[in-house]
Amino acid sequence: MTDRPDKHAPSTLAEFTQAVHAGNEIDRGSGAIRTPIVMANSYALPDDPSEVSWSGTDVPLYTRNSGTNQLGLQQKLAALEHGEDAVALGSGVAALHAVFFTLLNSGDHAVIADTTYEATFRLFTELLPEKYGIHASFVDATDPGAVRAAIRPETKLVHIEAIANPTTKVTDVAAIAAIAHEAGVLLSVDSTFTPPPLIRPLENGADLVVHSLTKYINGHGDAMGGAVIGRRDLVQRIKNDAMVDVGGVISPFNAWLIMRGSVTLPLRWRHHVASAARVAEFLDADPRVAYVAYPGLASHPQHDVAARQFSGGFGAMMAFAVDGDSETQNRFVSNLRVITSAVSLGHDESLIVHVGTSGPRVVHYPEEFKKWGHLRFSIGLEDADDLIADLSAALDATFALDSAG
Ligand SMILES: *Cc1c(COP(=O)(O)O)cnc(C)c1O
Repeated sequence: MTDRPDKHAPSTLAEFTQAVHAGNEIDRGSGAIRTPIVMANSYALPDDPSEVSWSGTDVPLYTRNSGTNQLGLQQKLAALEHGEDAVALGSGVAALHAVFFTLLNSGDHAVIADTTYEATFRLFTELLPEKYGIHASFVDATDPGAVRAAIRPETKLVHIEAIANPTTKVTDVAAIAAIAHEAGVLLSVDSTFTPPPLIRPLENGADLVVHSLTKYINGHGDAMGGAVIGRRDLVQRIKNDAMVDVGGVISPFNAWLIMRGSVTLPLRWRHHVASAARVAEFLDADPRVAYVAYPGLASHPQHDVAARQFSGGFGAMMAFAVDGDSETQNRFVSNLRVITSAVSLGHDESLIVHVGTSGPRVVHYPEEFKKWGHLRFSIGLEDADDLIADLSAALDATFALDSAG
């Protein structure tokens, strides 16, 4: 099993076709037309192994470097994001850490968007400075001038989210890429909220794109994984340093599940996005809802940037609050019958989580998030009318108490 014929040349086929075929191949042993799950840790060596690179990552050798299912998934992810290469890891956070660990050395500086995933925030406020002397400036990346002003001679990386978790702030990826490259700095984009085809950050100038595969790309809430996709030389460094020698590898079973889930990404995504637009409009029109943060609403502060840089919609994540205190938010959530109260996002089922108004990251949140807290809401694959009916009934149940009392 040394050559993996690339039967579907990446950039020439349409997204739906890539999602079905990329990275899958006929199994030579069984003739199965789907790559089976290969749970072996090791693969047969050639008769003369003297030429084998023990830390090689291209052919199946040892599952921490290059198992069959990882290799297939990596091909598919590179095809979906139009990247040269991809590395799959055990979780989205492992993928984020892999980028930072590989690209940054002691004394280096990074510019990080001020609303960013919790683990990225803690890595750059506590762990990386304390352990390695790597420092960061947190800036409002929706203001490209602020990113430019924060870049120093020792800056090596700018890291942003195209739609930020949880505020839904939208960053102009091409504008930030231009600023980073002018200064000789790399740009990585956590695109977990914005899977292809909404945006392909590499085509907007990013050097690396990071995904939590746990979310939309797997899409079924039953496997964790993460990936970094981009320029071959950079991805190879991440494989060598963070995968082979730190070991945050994905399991063959999870790689296989994510491979299967990703087949329907383009199809699922269209339904997620269309339902989210309808749900956002419903919430926005209800006077019992205090605010709705969704890039598709004309009232969203970066609606114009979003309309310009995204294709086919505005994503399927929003944040909102009902008009009331923390206890009212909890009561509203407990009145939902279809939408599930749980963390995570991008699953088939709609997920909502009440996030309060405390914690270090809240400093960077918009005023309405500080005042009411927020309900982070991932619109799933249920019928949009059922979701709207569920929200409507929960609003009635929550506010009936108030008006009766
Ligand atoms: C969930 C998430 C991550 C982390 O992914 P895990 O697979 O949970 O480790 C990173 N970034 C964003 C934007 C996320 O939503």
